[in-house]
Amino acid sequence: MKIIGLTGGIGSGKTTVAGFFKELGIPVYIADEAGKRLMNTSAKIKEQIIELFGEASYSGDNPERKFIASKVFSDKDLLEKLNKIIHPAVEKDFKDWAKDQSSAYVIYEAAILFETGGYKKCDLSILVTAPRDLRIKRLQKRDESSREEIQQRMDNQWIDEKKSEMADFIIINEDLTSTKQQVEHIHDKILKAGKNS
Ligand code: ATP
Repeated sequence: MKIIGLTGGIGSGKTTVAGFFKELGIPVYIADEAGKRLMNTSAKIKEQIIELFGEASYSGDNPERKFIASKVFSDKDLLEKLNKIIHPAVEKDFKDWAKDQSSAYVIYEAAILFETGGYKKCDLSILVTAPRDLRIKRLQKRDESSREEIQQRMDNQWIDEKKSEMADFIIINEDLTSTKQQVEHIHDKILKAGKNS
């Protein structure tokens, strides 16, 4: 079974694209959701996070997400340390999940895939892109975040040009009908490639 990494900057439309793959019967694992879930359930993660951010980072078994987010918001070093705690746990969780799937391939969706080196564990990668201004407009509408806040979050991720060079497929997500067609095209290519290997 192939593992196809799906990534894209915030507001590019990863989750929207993942939804189209699901419609084609492809199982999707969302790494960011798994990370959040594991922060609530893993005693090891809790221990490491408290060590990094202090007692205020948890209330009982519940992570204080706003507090943790405020700490890593403008500190790339701390963000990297937090990622190093979460990613190995997500990787193990994904492997366990993937064992139970029986499709030709699965999608591993992660906001940062190239930045973390996670793409090396995937057979192929897909990058979702959209013009920066369109992404900002979408996020302002979805999250009611300020333009400055969105731009700061974008600046913590690699620019599309850098990721484009590394991706096997690129989906330009402007118009939804075209996006769906691009997904179907990639789906066919992955299935055909699987038959030849
Ligand atoms: P994040 O990393 O912030 O979670 P994402 O890359 O998963 O974002 P989505 O949640 O899929 O992106 O899309 C962001 C917002 O833009 C959503 O509200 C979604 O409905 C909307 N959106 C995505 N693609 C399109 C499109 N082609 N046309 C119109 N709206 C879109």
